[in-house]
Amino acid sequence: MSLVEARDGLVRKAFSSVELTTAALAAVEALNPRLNAYITVTGDQALAQAAQADAAIAAGEAGPMAGVPVGIKDLFCTKGVRTTAASNILRDFVPPYESTVTANLRRDGAVFLGKTNLDEFAMGSGNLTSAFGPVENPWKRAGSDAALVPGGSSGGSAAAVAAGLGFGATGTDTGGSIRQPASYCGITGIKPTYGRCSRFGTIAFASSLDQAGPMARTVADCAVMLGSMAGFDAQDSTSVDRPVPDYLAACGRSLKGLRIGIPREYHAPGMPAEIEAIWQQGIAWLRDAGCEIVDVSLPHTKYGLATYYIIAPAECSSNLARYDGVRFGARVAGGTLDELYENTRRAGFGDETRRRIMMGTYVLSAGYYDAYYLKAQKVRSLIQRDFTDVFADVDVLLTPTAPSAAFAQDEKPSDPVQMYLNDIFTVPASMAGVPAMSVPAGVDAQGLPLGLQLIGRFFDEETLFAVGSALERAAAFTHRPALRASDVARAGIAS
Ligand code: GLN
Repeated sequence: MSLVEARDGLVRKAFSSVELTTAALAAVEALNPRLNAYITVTGDQALAQAAQADAAIAAGEAGPMAGVPVGIKDLFCTKGVRTTAASNILRDFVPPYESTVTANLRRDGAVFLGKTNLDEFAMGSGNLTSAFGPVENPWKRAGSDAALVPGGSSGGSAAAVAAGLGFGATGTDTGGSIRQPASYCGITGIKPTYGRCSRFGTIAFASSLDQAGPMARTVADCAVMLGSMAGFDAQDSTSVDRPVPDYLAACGRSLKGLRIGIPREYHAPGMPAEIEAIWQQGIAWLRDAGCEIVDVSLPHTKYGLATYYIIAPAECSSNLARYDGVRFGARVAGGTLDELYENTRRAGFGDETRRRIMMGTYVLSAGYYDAYYLKAQKVRSLIQRDFTDVFADVDVLLTPTAPSAAFAQDEKPSDPVQMYLNDIFTVPASMAGVPAMSVPAGVDAQGLPLGLQLIGRFFDEETLFAVGSALERAAAFTHRPALRASDVARAGIAS
């Protein structure tokens, strides 16, 4: 069942939310020991929320997410429920307040199954940096049992949704963390326009880039979830006061006359032929749907990764300065205050987070600020201008989401820069702040999902939903991850 089907079934009273939630929790119990998609499972709370939703449905007061069980990335603060950012420093942090995005979902009746795993502080592309251990992608290469990564940083959310441990999940995307894991796990995800969802109560990585969004099995599911998550919030000064449109209504729209731009800079050197082929297939599908295909250029794309990996670490070094053992999270004592800081931060942060803090501190330091940080900000403006220029001519851009399919956990590159290359296609839209969606388009020769990315104009998520749902119909992506025999036996489900 999709999220929309589950929601409609609940309203028709074909089943109750308590039944649906019980089944979802059983699936979590069966599969989470292997996948490690959830850090914290909140079963009792979920069942209580489900009972509330059933009462609301019976009273004819069902909100748009009433009774639907979902996962919440463990970067969103949830009042009274441990929120870790997959880090040691926040391992036992219980927020005294709720993020706006999760409050909006609760307002609309959603049921929270628990908090999903991620790369520590959302820094990574393989969900390999979590202090709670890696997440396993439910998908397998044909004929191989190797554990694959689900992508990152919202890898727990992506794996959970792909494996059916929830009808959707929240993600956050700073440089691709919704879209790349969605692509690796064969699901849909959208990073809305910067400012569309409130960042209040979302643990900050890089504040000028961080944006929340939904991950789910279908485009329509994402439309329903985004409609609930989005909206103005006076508690976030970068939240934009615009009405939230009916995204679900946009899903069926005709594409006649839409102009689709194909940016020539996205033909990455060394990209697998299968990804190039699926891109060409996507172009053909949209042409058949009545779109006009236009060759376009985003000339500053080649600087996207380099500038992202200056700006994001700079902001992270500033944002993470608050974790000093004094007010938040874990503390490791020391003889002096400086020692307390050092001991706390040494024990509290993993290698990747430390690397980013060091890079960020360096590029912001007095001698290098102009050479790196200021320069990167100027290039960022040029990247943004590329998009503004191109959107004067076309409505949407179509590109691959990632330069590869999911890789194996033990194929992790030893050079961190190799890892950063995963983000080559997703980073530019983040730098510009424009919305972008990943839709599963097909599988490679090994049976692994490949996603296509749609990038739209500021606040024009509706066109992304229209084009995304057309791509989804054309692709007819019905592949599902193969469960292992042992999982099937443990879950007591028919394969
Ligand atoms: N993979 C990118 C990074 O490591 C993006 C992470 C994100 O979007 N949160 O920074």
